[in-house]
Amino acid sequence: MKVKYRFNPESLSYDKVKTSFKAWILKFFTFFTASIVISIIYYVVFSYFFNSPKEKALIRVNDQMKLQYELATKRLDEMSKVLDDMQQRDDNLYRVVFEAEPISRSVREAGFGGVNRYEELEKATNNQLVVETSKKLDIVSKRMYIQSKSFDEVISKAKYKGQMLMCTPNIQPVANKDLKKTASGYGWRIHPIYKIRKFHEGMDFTAPVGTPVYATADGTIAEEGRDAGYGNKLLINHGFGYETLYAHLEQFNVRLGQKVKRGDLVGYVGNTGLSTGPHLHYEVHKGGKPQNPAYFYFNDLTPSDFNQVLEISSSMGQTFD
Ligand SMILES: [Zn+2]
Repeated sequence: MKVKYRFNPESLSYDKVKTSFKAWILKFFTFFTASIVISIIYYVVFSYFFNSPKEKALIRVNDQMKLQYELATKRLDEMSKVLDDMQQRDDNLYRVVFEAEPISRSVREAGFGGVNRYEELEKATNNQLVVETSKKLDIVSKRMYIQSKSFDEVISKAKYKGQMLMCTPNIQPVANKDLKKTASGYGWRIHPIYKIRKFHEGMDFTAPVGTPVYATADGTIAEEGRDAGYGNKLLINHGFGYETLYAHLEQFNVRLGQKVKRGDLVGYVGNTGLSTGPHLHYEVHKGGKPQNPAYFYFNDLTPSDFNQVLEISSSMGQTFD
């Protein structure tokens, strides 16, 4: 060990300094601790300014994720715009055409107020981008779900409507392009045989015996047989509350219970029952009540034809019954 001396001003001489073992240990530890502290400071400062390879890799991954999140947000914005457009058409066209109840704004945009469902996410990351993307994704998913439910409803309504249209009488029961067969219409008329005023519940078409008679809508043959007044008569049940009746037929072309399509040949014009000449007596019933058949030729007639039919069928004072 190095020997140290200290100048003593009293004795004006150098005294030998005695270093105790304890003091030496203390000195050693002070030095040791200081060097550790310095190393730590050095490490912290160094790692603050310079990244380790592992950190560099992590930063690269983080940058890539950020980019992907930005891309996802952009696509979500685009999807949101497409949804806006679909929602517009749905509310203003499809749901209106098919008479569906409109979906209120509050339903379409429900479920995003109140409790902050993103609290945990916000705690887990201070990255606003992740939270925002997650919120947008939730909104788009919810809107898509509501939109798809709406389309399900519209599709089922459209199917129902299509079927209803097929089952609604909308043509004349005989070929009558020039309207020359239109003989007598619905309303109060003089009965051709009894010569009294009687309510005529259908429309008469004069045509030669054997002229084809067609089903005016899809349906099922519900009655087929002979009737004292109506002669050979056919009743077609169309569903949706509609029935059509064809009377004074010469012959049937269908069996009871047979399913028919609009335009199918169901029989031939005749002169059976209480009838003053070969003609078809045709009735349209809705909910069991006779309707004016003139209003059920809309697939057949132009607006001017329609007016003409109304005129002809109402001016004839006497029916063929
Ligand atoms: Zn008649």
